Amino acid sequence: MIVDAHAHLFPGAWFTTATDGPVTWRAASETTTSMTVLGKQMVVPNALLDATAAATDAREQGCDRRAVMSPPFTVLYELDPDEGIRWARSFNDAMAAAVATEPTLLGYAMVPLQSGESAAVELRRAVEELGLVGAAILSTVAGRGLDDDALTPFWRDAAELCVPVFVHPHYVSGTSATEHLYLRNVVGNPTETAGAGARLVLGGVLDRFTGLNVVLAHGGGALPHLAGRLDRAAAVRAELSGTTGAPSALLSRLYYDTVVFDPTVLRHIGELVGFDRLTVGSDFPFDMGVERPVDFVRTAGLDEAQVGTVLGSRLWDRARNRTGTRSQDG
Ligand SMILES: [Zn+2]
Repeated sequence: MIVDAHAHLFPGAWFTTATDGPVTWRAASETTTSMTVLGKQMVVPNALLDATAAATDAREQGCDRRAVMSPPFTVLYELDPDEGIRWARSFNDAMAAAVATEPTLLGYAMVPLQSGESAAVELRRAVEELGLVGAAILSTVAGRGLDDDALTPFWRDAAELCVPVFVHPHYVSGTSATEHLYLRNVVGNPTETAGAGARLVLGGVLDRFTGLNVVLAHGGGALPHLAGRLDRAAAVRAELSGTTGAPSALLSRLYYDTVVFDPTVLRHIGELVGFDRLTVGSDFPFDMGVERPVDFVRTAGLDEAQVGTVLGSRLWDRARNRTGTRSQDG
């Protein structure tokens, strides 16, 4: 079973709560929707709100399942904790209703990481009661790294539930170097993901919770390519003296999607972290997505066994078992 680990869906039509929340949306043209997030307006493709479009495209690309998450700009860690809980709950209820209409889709939960405790509670509800597949989170939480002590309850429960936690870049701080030429996305996103992954590796989260299944977006951004630099810093810098072993070895405890576009880069990441740590991704329906995600893996110059390992990523074993159980149950 091939699972696309990285796609986006905003389940607008399935919200049952009043639409006076932090996000509102309305048709802008035949092909676009205007979304307003905390007063800021943006135009998105209609496919972002269309579960059938997401499922149909997945099947056309040869994916048996597609895991969908909220677009990152609707994950609002800046809301006060109570409002954050309300927003995540109404989003997850809508996401569960949306993916129930399309068996191809698996839904990632939104969790209110403003509070590690609340995020843990919502993750359990989303997985155990709503049947969502895991959680999608952003690369930082109100300026704090993912190894912040306050997030411990969330990581503990995610490890216990053994579900994927997808880390998506956001909150990229623009600098004079990246504010033009779309570099905030092209360079900023991979840098942000590298920072998030490095905090998990060097901050001890992967050591404390060995059952975690964390997936980094866009092939881990810059992180895999920094393996040597991380090891050098751990060897010579006092700031990293608490790190156990070579950080590069811990890179093989993370998963990485295949949204990298360049076959040489994909092979390089596989050789660094192991092909069993790669999982297919598309970033559907955004223009920075891979249009033919399965073909990309098949034609990237991997050997047959490596292709099989990536397309059948063991990250999804639990989802596979669950699907099997569901179909046996009738
Ligand atoms: Zn994405």
